[in-house]
Amino acid sequence: MRAPTNDDLARNARAWRDVFAAPEAHLDYEEVEAYVDGRADSDLRARVDEHRGRCERCAQDIADLDAERRRASRRPLPRPILIAAAAAVLVLLFLPLLRRPARVDSAPPARIPIRDYGRADWNALVRNALATGRIEVANPLPPFPSDALRGSQDGPSAVRLEPAGTIVESQTPALTWSNLDAPVIVSVYRGETRIAESGPVSHQWTVDVPLQRGAIYQWQIRSGDAIYPAPPDPPAELRVLDARSADDLAAARRSFPNDHRLLGILYGRAALNARAREELTEHLRLHPKDNAVRRILQNLRAAR
Ligand SMILES: [Zn+2]
Repeated sequence: MRAPTNDDLARNARAWRDVFAAPEAHLDYEEVEAYVDGRADSDLRARVDEHRGRCERCAQDIADLDAERRRASRRPLPRPILIAAAAAVLVLLFLPLLRRPARVDSAPPARIPIRDYGRADWNALVRNALATGRIEVANPLPPFPSDALRGSQDGPSAVRLEPAGTIVESQTPALTWSNLDAPVIVSVYRGETRIAESGPVSHQWTVDVPLQRGAIYQWQIRSGDAIYPAPPDPPAELRVLDARSADDLAAARRSFPNDHRLLGILYGRAALNARAREELTEHLRLHPKDNAVRRILQNLRAAR
């Protein structure tokens, strides 16, 4: 079996950098908001119009925010306008109007209070994310998943390996590949050292040696003489979630299993973006008016 060469590893490093520097795949919240509020300049309008035409998810986000703005505009007018209006009405109709009860905004607050998690770092993390609409990623390495790392042999019949170019929470992750029915041998490397190897397996294999937290591994599959990803593509690469993030996630799931906002933000901090999106989407299903979380979710999607 061909082990990853230094060239492969250099290509991987470049690929991770490209992923980090890749242009945003989706519209971010600020762009959607500027568009909906009519503050977008012509460049941004054109970009949003073009993107929403081919991206259902962003089109839905635009529709959601637009609907939200319409609901909000039915709320009472700002105070100075109310005072002026009241004065005008008084002039016209005199005192009887004063007996009318004042209208009260009955809409629930858009923000769900932040509970005290008993941990200053979590309290600050959640407060920050809600205030800025963004989750600060704990790990300094570029951690984002990307199709760019699944090989250049694209197309519907290309053999695709997952996970690739992403972080995994488990130390014994399940490795899967598509578009290849023949049995293969799976090899996992750390640098040029082989860490694990399967027997003949089809479609998926669970790594049978615990991988080290925080470490980066490469893996590839072999069927007869064929290797995937096929050279010169670099092997698929994954990083195992670091110990601190893994401990935090386990503790949060144990202590606050129903706090999808906390869980989503912790997953986001660990750069486990797919899980973060799931949790925040669940939170929004239960609290549809939590606009602060809607903004975080939108920005997570933009970061991809
Ligand atoms: Zn989009």
